[in-house]
Amino acid sequence: MYRTHNCGELRMADAGKEVTLSGWVQASRDFGALTFIDLRDRYGITQLVFNIEDDQELCERARQLGREFVIRAQGKVRERSNKNPNRPTGEVEIEMKGLDILNPSATPPFTIEDSSDGGDDLRMKFRYLDMRRDPVKDKIMFRSQVAFETRRYLTQEGFLEIETPCLIKSTPEGARDFVVPSRMNPGQFYALPQSPQTFKQILMVAGFDKYFQIVKCFRDEDLRADRQPEFTQIDCELAFVTRDQVLDTFEGLTKHLFKSVINVDLPAFPRMSYDEAIRRFGSDKPDLRFGMEFVDFTELVQGKGFQVFDQAEIIIGINLPHQADQYSNKAINELTDWMKRPQIGAKGLVYVKVNADGTFKSSVGKFYSDEELREWADSAGAEPGDLLLIVSGEKEKTQKQLNELRLEMGNRLGLRDGDDFRPLWVVDFPLLEWDEEAERFHAMHHPFTSPKQEDIERMLDGDHQTMKSLRADAYDLVINGAEIGGGSIRIHDRKLQERNFKLLGFTPEEAEDQFGFLLGAFEYGAPPHGGIAFGFDRLCAVMKGSMSIRDFIAFPKNNMGRDMMIDAPSPVDKDQLEELGLALRDRANVGNE
Ligand code: ASP
Repeated sequence: MYRTHNCGELRMADAGKEVTLSGWVQASRDFGALTFIDLRDRYGITQLVFNIEDDQELCERARQLGREFVIRAQGKVRERSNKNPNRPTGEVEIEMKGLDILNPSATPPFTIEDSSDGGDDLRMKFRYLDMRRDPVKDKIMFRSQVAFETRRYLTQEGFLEIETPCLIKSTPEGARDFVVPSRMNPGQFYALPQSPQTFKQILMVAGFDKYFQIVKCFRDEDLRADRQPEFTQIDCELAFVTRDQVLDTFEGLTKHLFKSVINVDLPAFPRMSYDEAIRRFGSDKPDLRFGMEFVDFTELVQGKGFQVFDQAEIIIGINLPHQADQYSNKAINELTDWMKRPQIGAKGLVYVKVNADGTFKSSVGKFYSDEELREWADSAGAEPGDLLLIVSGEKEKTQKQLNELRLEMGNRLGLRDGDDFRPLWVVDFPLLEWDEEAERFHAMHHPFTSPKQEDIERMLDGDHQTMKSLRADAYDLVINGAEIGGGSIRIHDRKLQERNFKLLGFTPEEAEDQFGFLLGAFEYGAPPHGGIAFGFDRLCAVMKGSMSIRDFIAFPKNNMGRDMMIDAPSPVDKDQLEELGLALRDRANVGNE
């Protein structure tokens, strides 16, 4: 037998028991007469003690053990004289009677400690060692628990877990597809799903009115921070539901996960329209843990001779309570430079300090009287000691810039950490986005999203301008400024779906070719339906207050999309390529034809 107990479970109540443990050598300390070994497995660490007076030979062997050796240890549990309150097993130790080396270990290339000395790539190459470290191990175990509770909740709510295929045809969700060549159909390709979107809709037509799946999705996107080319969704779809029923169900799921896994009672989830979110925060995923809402100064400040403001489409700002004294001219200049970096692209930054004596100090002081600045301060609710930061320019860009500034100030003032969770439903997204450059519409969510009921008529007969104003029955769940999930009520009517494809620039032939199966299914009694998908990796990260999703994935890719452990992607044999009809020879032929 390898073990009677694991390395995390022995307590004072077990004192006197004969036990066998197996695990990895975390550390060893040799004090001559006594040798201590910390034995680790995924459950914890237990101290083993070898006494030279009890058994010299055993003690000698213990001294030979290196880090990460796998051993079986047999002995008797006893109370420790020198207790370690930081460890659940810290009151006991094992008085050793027997030791087997199950497998020695090479010296690990980095320390297996909470804070390791290994760089990112090295740790990813030796991911199996990295996963022995608590910070990574805990996240992988945490994820398993969230997955379990998800299944429990949704199953109890009557959802069926149904798998959909990985080798499919393109689903247009806005990203590039990964493709897989088909050997049996030379020159043809499968695509890996960006999400099971069309399949889950077909499941609704099939009558499985509550579906879910914890499912891998694949998107060949350009590198962006903290994105993985393959990631996991909690994907759901329901038939015969209204938007509010979908929101209530997934609010219920989210509350259950927070309560059951991290014992947090989430507050009610407010609902905010997309327009309101943009107006108040300049973002469709506002972080509600702090205020600093946008103040619109446009009407107040124009027409007073300050060209920059007069020429701007919008002039907006935020108020930073008690920060006037914290920002010297130098600090303001630094902040201005920060705003002018190409990533943000602001042209400048105007400040107004509300002095304690009721006067003002401002970078635009020569254009505006104290009286006028008082009006600004009043409209922002600014008090003596506060600092107003103002940007101006083209509406959308300026809103984005001020959103960046708001988040940055939230970070600097420490308002974005801690274990405060602020969920929010953002609803009523625009249905279509006009792409100026390409002169075409894109679906803001995806092409299967329904316009709001009251906009259906306008969508069927409206003109171009009308299309820009259509609202979708689409929603996002945002927690602490992170988008946790999104979904929509779907179109279930062939005519409306065809109209949407047309608006998105598909010819009827293209629509038929790519989505004939769905349009066809809509002719055979498609029920009204809608759904949502949560980004599972991101949800786990947010629940743990972590900025990065990477460690919640057992085998993540680096930011070049590489798996450093197995070294993928990699070239394949010429034979393999030939079999797939992809050999260079063939490609050369194609070129020559
Ligand atoms: N398939 C969508 C996505 O991946 C989610 C949904 O609409 O249910 O974002």
